Amino acid sequence: MYQSLPRKYRPQTFQALVGQEAIVTTLKNALKYNRVAHAYLFCGSRGTGKTSVARLFAKALNCSHLTADFEPCNQCTSCQEITAGRSLDVLEIDGASNRGIDDIRQINETVGYASSAGKYKIYIIDEVHMLTKEAFNALLKTLEEPPPNVKFFFATTEPHKMPATIISRCQRFDFGRLSTEIIVHKLRSIASDQKANVEDAALELIAHLAEGGLRDAESLFDQLLCYSDGPITYDSVAKSVSLSPRSYYFRLDEAIADRNLSFAFTLSEEIFSSGKEIASFLDGLVEHLRTLLLLKLSLPLSTYLSEADKKSYSTSEKLYSEEECLYMLDYVMGWYKELSKIPFKQSMLEMILLHLLRSKQRIPLPTLVRRLIEIDKGQEVATPATIAPPAEVSKEKLVEVQSTALPASKSFATTSKDEIAIAPPPPETTRSQQSRYDTLLRFAAIELEGSVKP
Ligand SMILES: [Zn+2]
Repeated sequence: MYQSLPRKYRPQTFQALVGQEAIVTTLKNALKYNRVAHAYLFCGSRGTGKTSVARLFAKALNCSHLTADFEPCNQCTSCQEITAGRSLDVLEIDGASNRGIDDIRQINETVGYASSAGKYKIYIIDEVHMLTKEAFNALLKTLEEPPPNVKFFFATTEPHKMPATIISRCQRFDFGRLSTEIIVHKLRSIASDQKANVEDAALELIAHLAEGGLRDAESLFDQLLCYSDGPITYDSVAKSVSLSPRSYYFRLDEAIADRNLSFAFTLSEEIFSSGKEIASFLDGLVEHLRTLLLLKLSLPLSTYLSEADKKSYSTSEKLYSEEECLYMLDYVMGWYKELSKIPFKQSMLEMILLHLLRSKQRIPLPTLVRRLIEIDKGQEVATPATIAPPAEVSKEKLVEVQSTALPASKSFATTSKDEIAIAPPPPETTRSQQSRYDTLLRFAAIELEGSVKP
């Protein structure tokens, strides 16, 4: 019989549960010292192991042959019934579909009955935050005077939606997202068990897409195993989830370096004709720019790169300054909130790409600031055509210029990253200085593209 991977590889012992060691230790200690609370609240994002822990803990509580290490034996009747989901003592309730007061009343009516075979009657309520206010009130009554041998395990992704009166009666555990390494490790062991041929980069990508949730990672992996014949590679995963291939971004880097504006239309057409979502393209672009920035800063990468990708990245990295990476990252992120509002997606994408392709022509704000300071001091200034490109201005120098030569009383002051407040030039300014001043301000206006607040 076919079983989905998350089901098939559901941990049957605490030891097999990955990534929540601190929580497991605390729960085992509760068993060891016989200090099990009446109610537990397991909080955390999807697929981080909340219900797995609840089931294991329930199993351990009712196991008749608990191991020396406080693991359920998985052999006794109780263990087997819980594994098969037919235990009369461990009741799993979905809070999303049993959220009314009547559902909770039913629980309240049955808590009085003794457990059938096991020692405890355990109610596991998943997505408990979905309960109605009345249902919570009814539940509270039981939690205030819990009958002996009745335990409640609540699991929720949204604890902030729960009444404080309930939370304060529970022992709370927060489940962290699982690291990419942990997920990759688990997927790799599944892959070898399934005798599947999977590239490491593919596992890394699956883990990355699952955003710290093991169940999502396993489900995606399951799909890929079902639908692909041959080895599972980074590209086959990327294709199956409609991710943009990395080659899009490397080609964009080249076009930016060549100031090839027509590439905006070529790439946008390619993306749209292949049916990819613009949001997914931008996600990939943000990830790409982030990788470039990490490389520039010589920081370790969190994503796995194939040898070919490493080579492409080392080429691309040389095309940008740190400042340029930051600027582009900032610019692309700025579009996220606009995404849903704009109906003309293709034009929007073209616009974003054109802006990025022009970014090498952009004179960075610090350079403009420095030029204005020089004019202000009456120094000779180069004509705009010979303004130094950004790479020539060292960061230390800029900081120095900005902090020493920019007292508040000067004719302008930077107010925030991309805004400058402009005041009239000082009275002693000569006519030629005035015209240079105007020229630079005009440049600034073009460069800041409307972000100067009047
Ligand atoms: Zn057992």
